[in-house]
Amino acid sequence: MEIANAQVSLSALKHNYAVLKQRAPSSKILVVIKANAYGHGMLQVAEALAELADGFAVARCKEAIALRKAGIKSHILVLEGFFDGAEAQELAQHQVATVIHSEQQLELVEQLSLKQPLETWIKLDTGMHRLGLLPEQFKHLLPRIRTCQNIQAPFKLISHFACADELEHPLTPQQITLFSELTKELGVECSLANSAGILLWPEAHAQWNRPGISMYGISPQVDNNGADFGLIPAMTLQTNLIAVREHPKGESVGYGATWQAEQDTRLGVVAMGYGDGYPRSAPNGTPVWLNGRLVPIVGRVSMDMLCVDLGPDCKDKVGDKVILWGPELPVETIAKAVGTIAYELVTKLTSRVRITYT
Ligand code: PLP
Repeated sequence: MEIANAQVSLSALKHNYAVLKQRAPSSKILVVIKANAYGHGMLQVAEALAELADGFAVARCKEAIALRKAGIKSHILVLEGFFDGAEAQELAQHQVATVIHSEQQLELVEQLSLKQPLETWIKLDTGMHRLGLLPEQFKHLLPRIRTCQNIQAPFKLISHFACADELEHPLTPQQITLFSELTKELGVECSLANSAGILLWPEAHAQWNRPGISMYGISPQVDNNGADFGLIPAMTLQTNLIAVREHPKGESVGYGATWQAEQDTRLGVVAMGYGDGYPRSAPNGTPVWLNGRLVPIVGRVSMDMLCVDLGPDCKDKVGDKVILWGPELPVETIAKAVGTIAYELVTKLTSRVRITYT
């Protein structure tokens, strides 16, 4: 019996790519596949999209080198730009682009002796205040960036949104305005929009867009689902019922005895727990999908299993398929119940969950 697997639909990924391309037809797309493609399998996602996508973005040098070693020839950008001298050499050698986000990094790059220059995106801090050159710092460093032998000309410019998922937030228009002021006369390629930028802020579309979460069919906003944007969830997290038990009124279930049955019922024991990456914080009532209906989790999620209240008249049996999230039950619903974001749920699946592709 196949227990706890994440089935990833490659056709859903391609569909989502097409939806995002349609939103901004003249922008190229860097598909963000950091953190194992948000839990969907970095190499498999890159291979599936290699012909379609204009490039890929990751967060770590190690991820980029793994892609090159697997034969991915597309443009690859290391978004966060943590590198030392040896890593910068390796990135240049593998023709992987990197971000430079501080004067310290610029100095490091200036002092390298490289066989070929680094493809470089200069990161501007337009309001996130995490990484990036502030406007005055950028203007001050521009002559050095332009003349640095180790930076391939022309460099590109990138900035990242802090609140683009919130339509009313004043910071997003400020970031858009500042980015366009800083970039307009430079004549270089730029990138600002993540998923929320692509879906909600057309004025943020530039030569390159960088969708992550939406590529996987998930909404960047907490109050709606991917389907609201025409996206299809790529992942179905599923497992099986491993026991069905009669459960009398008033009896509790699981660690801490946090739930008691209000009536005689049947409980289903589901082979999925926090050891698989399912959140232990899922409260009583969090739904799972079983035999065409939603049923509530009852009691605490434990390491290897969780329990659901099947109701007294259920027909469910051992071996039946249980879906924890997927097209039938959006991961956004689970994230909301748990008080987190879907990004965290999909990236936290553990190696015990086998990923399969359809
Ligand atoms: N660009 C950068 C610099 C990021 O750090 C991320 C993700 O965190 C993305 C793009 C993709 O964002 P999203 O998954 O919200 O589309």
